This record gives sequence, structure tokens and C-alpha cells, in this order.
Amino acid sequence: MHARQRLVFASHNPHKIQEISDILGPQLAVTGLTELGCFEEIPEPYDTLEENAMAKARYIYDTYQVDCFADDTGLEVDALGGQPGVRSARYAGAEKNSQANVSKLLTELSGISYRRARFRTVIALVMQGRVYLFEGIVKGVISHVPTGEKGFGYDPVFIPDGYDKSFAEMDAELKNKISHRKMAISKLVDFLKIFSSAPGEGLFDENRE
Ligand code: IMP
Repeated sequence: MHARQRLVFASHNPHKIQEISDILGPQLAVTGLTELGCFEEIPEPYDTLEENAMAKARYIYDTYQVDCFADDTGLEVDALGGQPGVRSARYAGAEKNSQANVSKLLTELSGISYRRARFRTVIALVMQGRVYLFEGIVKGVISHVPTGEKGFGYDPVFIPDGYDKSFAEMDAELKNKISHRKMAISKLVDFLKIFSSAPGEGLFDENRE
């Protein structure tokens, strides 16, 4: 690939890299941070998903001089004023324990029947020094008890609108069709296709299988 065609995803999480690669399909190769030789944890110190995503992408771009995108996701629960939001990973503590996070969420919502929520993903792309933002949202409700074994994080208690099962009960294929990340990634892909429409200059290699 041409050096400009390399697109780094600023994540160490193999689960997320796989999920995003599956969504992107074979036309665009994504390199994770470990593959890039970056082993440090990039801090997410800000109060908004946008600022955290931009800071991560900007850091990798500045340090490694590669085009790069980073994401940040939060579960925003209406009855909790948008919490846990940007603090979703550490809702129940610094150890980022998903089961503890889910338990805390259900405790906070006990006795509350209005359980509307949404997952929101923000992707920041830094390309040739410029920053572009893409947002993906999936709306749904928080169930009263966790169900399902698949997925990760809050999946067992999130039931997306139009379905009667949680994300954790869905095959990855279905979740990846309707998820917040899918929505944000689709916007990123549309943008990259337009951005790189010049023949031979694009990020997309139409001949890849
Ligand atoms: P991240 O920004 O993708 O690392 O997401 C932050 C936190 O939000 C994760 O640690 C999870 O707790 C939660 N989260 C993000 N995406 C999902 C998802 O697709 N399902 C369930 N939980 C998620």
C-alpha cells in the first residue's frame, strides 16, 4: 500500500479492532496500535466523547505521522441525566469491570420505569493534519435484568429499538449492522470514499478480497 493509504485505528482492544474491521470489510485495511508499535495507554481525560476521541487521534498522528482515527463511546441514560456517558468504562470503578458497571446501572435505575437510553459513538479522524468528526447513535431501553452471553460491556442490558432482545443475545453480525459503532463507521467510510476518489490515490483498494 502507498504510505498515505495506511489507516491506523487508535485502539489496543482486539475485540474493537476486529469489530471495526468486520464493519469496514475487506476494502480498507486497519492497523491497531500494537501493530504500529505503540504499547502505551492513551489517556481519555476529557468530559466529552468528542474531546477524548480527538485527543487520541491527534496524539497518534503527531507521534507516528500516520493518518489515524480514534473512537470514544458512551451509554447515555435519560433518567440519569446522560450518565454514565463518557464515564461508561469506569462507571463502577477504575478497574473497568463490565459486570460491576451493569450492576451499578441496574441499581441506579431500580424503581425507575422510564429506561430510555442510547449508545453514542464519536469517531475522530485525523487525516493529513485535519480533524473530522463522525457520530453514530443507537436508541433503546435498559432492561431490568441482564440477558445473553455475547458482546461486551453493557450489551446484556441494552435492548435496541425494534428488537425484543438485548445486544448480548444477538449474533455479532446483527449487532454490527445496527450498532452505534456501525453508524459512525459508515459515515467515516462514506467520507473516506469521497476523500480518496482520485484513482490510485484512494484509501480503498477495490481489488482486495
Ligand atoms: P469505548 O470508548 O469503546 O472504549 O467504550 C467505553 C465503554 O462503553 C466500554 O468500556 C463499555 O463499557 C461501553 N461500550 C462501548 N461500546 C459498547 C457496546 O457496543 N456494547 C456495550 N457496551 C459498550
